[in-house]
Amino acid sequence: MIDHAQLHRDIATLATIVEPECSGTTRRAFTAAHAAGRQWLTTQFQAAGLETSIDAGGNLIGRRAGSANLPPIMIGSHSDTVMAGGSYDGALGVLAGLAVARALESDGLMLRHPLEVVDFLAEESTPLGSLVGSTAMCLGIDDVTMMLEIPGWGRLSDGIIRAGGNPTRARTALRTHGDIAAYIEVHIEQGPFLEAAKQPIGVVTGIVGIRRADIICRGRPDHAGTASMALRHDALAAVAEVISAAERAAVAMPGTVATVGSLTIGPNQSNVVPDYVRFSVEMRSLDWAEVESLWQHISMILAQSCERRGVQFAYEMIHDSAPVTFPDALVALVDSACTTASGTSMRLSSGAGHDASLLAGITPAAMIFVQTRAGRSHCPDEYAEPADINMAVDALALAVTMLDAQNR
Ligand SMILES: [Zn+2]
Repeated sequence: MIDHAQLHRDIATLATIVEPECSGTTRRAFTAAHAAGRQWLTTQFQAAGLETSIDAGGNLIGRRAGSANLPPIMIGSHSDTVMAGGSYDGALGVLAGLAVARALESDGLMLRHPLEVVDFLAEESTPLGSLVGSTAMCLGIDDVTMMLEIPGWGRLSDGIIRAGGNPTRARTALRTHGDIAAYIEVHIEQGPFLEAAKQPIGVVTGIVGIRRADIICRGRPDHAGTASMALRHDALAAVAEVISAAERAAVAMPGTVATVGSLTIGPNQSNVVPDYVRFSVEMRSLDWAEVESLWQHISMILAQSCERRGVQFAYEMIHDSAPVTFPDALVALVDSACTTASGTSMRLSSGAGHDASLLAGITPAAMIFVQTRAGRSHCPDEYAEPADINMAVDALALAVTMLDAQNR
């Protein structure tokens, strides 16, 4: 019942609505290109019989009525991209939702539950924040965040207004337990596991928890020729040990990753012993206890390495988000839909955050991953096979109808 050819035309068309003079597919939230993409999506939603609106948090919602007085089943993702990104991350989930709505319309099928296809605002990281729309829907956005002025971008409240939302009434976008029957998101995997297992699609069991620490080490700047090795307070040498220890410890914990992705050193001259290092440590795992024990180990090495060199250190935890485990019953339902659609299925976790991680706080949520070529994403080379996409969308449609048939 899904019009696969139309879905692939939609993916190709949305990929042409991009910011000028940017490479790859660039349609960052709060830009004119994002608004133009949304305009096109609105037309497509309406042509598929969906009643469209933008909630106060700036989420574009296409709604199809149901025959019973029940909360909606929600499907979707995000139409914004990173700078120089690909054509599938986010867009696929929104267009998969549209394809399901279009199939229901053309087949003249009415579900018991209403169906909502959602394009969440600003899932990707922007200077004004990330997961903006799903945060507005699931948690609410506080006034300080809303009014913070970012040079060149204005305030988040201005961005939400440009996206068609209404920040002064942002609380009306909030949904809570019971307001949504379930949420299912189709997304490219953005990782290597489905390809390695030769599986076209997979069911996501949960999303990793993330901890990020911001660490500053201060030693002493000295002449690189005259300061003897024994007398140095080399801040960078202290940090080098921490970086290696973080890598070794994470390698020893399968399913857990640690990354030092940002590092600033001072004075950053080849003939001066470095006296200043600011760096980040990020850890992710589906098992929060492993994140805790990894951080304990890393902070112990940091203390020992600095102590040995007479280097001062201080750290601040800048991000802590606990892992999300999707409910067994919905995972099993989506798994059986995937098995029917593709003849095979695989369960895996997500190492990246998604709108679904916030939705999971207020409703049963699940995700369907599509194999991603070489696991590459957030780049123009991002690619998923049309045949694999077809199976994911068929599985989504099936999962929606199975959910709708439950509890009759
Ligand atoms: Zn995404």
